Amino acid sequence: MLSVIIPVYNEEAVLDELIRRTVPAIESFTTDYEIIFTDDGSTDGSLKKLLSFREKNPKIKILSLSRNFGHQAAYTAGLEHAAGDLIAMMDADLQDPPEILIEMYRKITVEGFDAVYGRKIGRKGKKRRNFFMYLFHLIFKNIAEISNIENAGNFSMMTRKVVEALLSMREKIRYLPGMRSFVGFRQGYVDYIRDDRYTGKPKMSTGKLFRLAGDAIFSFSRLPIKLCFILGLTGVIIFLAAGIYVIIAKILNFAMPGWSSILLSIYFLGSIQLVFLGIIGEYVYRNYKESQNRPIYFIKEFYGSEPKN
Ligand code: UDP
Ligand code: MG
Repeated sequence: MLSVIIPVYNEEAVLDELIRRTVPAIESFTTDYEIIFTDDGSTDGSLKKLLSFREKNPKIKILSLSRNFGHQAAYTAGLEHAAGDLIAMMDADLQDPPEILIEMYRKITVEGFDAVYGRKIGRKGKKRRNFFMYLFHLIFKNIAEISNIENAGNFSMMTRKVVEALLSMREKIRYLPGMRSFVGFRQGYVDYIRDDRYTGKPKMSTGKLFRLAGDAIFSFSRLPIKLCFILGLTGVIIFLAAGIYVIIAKILNFAMPGWSSILLSIYFLGSIQLVFLGIIGEYVYRNYKESQNRPIYFIKEFYGSEPKN
């Protein structure tokens, strides 16, 4: 059986078209499937719409969360309730074309991959947003300590083995594309052009996107903390040299009475220290978040068969 997980946050306007395209795409290669919609605390008519779909097609299941937890949490909730042997993750706004699922399915069942993700080779839609996405992937690919991550997002299909591995990672701050790459197994990809969202505004605000980028970088790279060390070390070397120069100048009596150089170095050191405190604070905060050990989401209602285990 195939489970397709779709997080939904105020997507009332795209749901009809989503179903119109997704169901035939899935049924073109299997009739043994379920679609799990995670309603991530929508405040519009999304849940009502989903329930009406379920009345017509009981293979559609709905996981309704107690409030908005963010789309990584929504995907996680879906993964934990999926009963399939194969599990796919797909956004609701049709930026991930459901027809690509066919090729993912083929790669897993015929070519023997354990996970297949969609690799974005182009992006339609808003230029500015896409530029930031492009920039993030450019940086992340170079600093992440994991492979198979370039231009990869959530859009993917995985075997149960891979999903079990993913779910055994209990971290609270979750960047699922990175976690999928982290677990290993035999991973492949399907190249695709990411469409523009079907309609409506993005539900991931710019703030949420930047936070996600931060989560990705802090979870899968040591660069921020290494940066403190490298810059600190560079500073030490420069100021050691400058210190020697100052002492020599003093002894040989050509020292200038210069307050500007003193002031500048105080400003410089002060601001660098504040930046580094900020970076270290980020680690402390993340550590705190993990140690609080709060559940990633709460379920208000599950419309579907009871969760396994
Ligand atoms: N989403 C969600 N919770 C949120 C924000 C978004 O479940 O808090 C869903 C949204 O409905 C969509 C998917 O996550 O199905 C991706 O969101 P969006 O299209 O806004 O993000 P982008 O494609 O710009 O990364
Ligand atoms: Mg989108």
